[in-house]
Amino acid sequence: MIEVSRKDAKAQRTFDNAASVDSVFQNLCLLRFGFQATFTSTTVVLFHTHEADMADSPTNIRVLKEEGVLELTWPSNQVSRYPFYLLRCECPCASCINEFTGERILDPATVPRDIKPADAELSGNYALKFKWSDGHMTGLYSWDMLDRLASHEGVETVNLT
Ligand SMILES: [Zn+2]
Repeated sequence: MIEVSRKDAKAQRTFDNAASVDSVFQNLCLLRFGFQATFTSTTVVLFHTHEADMADSPTNIRVLKEEGVLELTWPSNQVSRYPFYLLRCECPCASCINEFTGERILDPATVPRDIKPADAELSGNYALKFKWSDGHMTGLYSWDMLDRLASHEGVETVNLT
């Protein structure tokens, strides 16, 4: 169990079983001010400590390595689980999608089925950025984009309430 708190200027860390935690997840320690994280060997939990200026942001973000999904909890209490493979295929960067026509350039057949994030970080307050295991890292997954993607086939979305 690793706990990281950035409430104070000095990051506070508790390392218990650090060896079992991937650098992927440890790198998520590099959180923007205002976030707090809880780490276990297979999951990362981030939650906002400053809710006010993040109305449309997920209230909870988990990278579930074992299950191969990114799990977001939205302010509406809706929980969406995005398979890594789908996220990689839906990469919104200019080399994967023609920004003028919206046409997909990336051939999903070239994406390994077992693709997973080699690294992940928050980009400001509005997006997640992944470095994928195939080396690709230019996509910026905004909350808006992920919100739209929640209704995509293959994304499991349930209501908590
Ligand atoms: Zn891309």
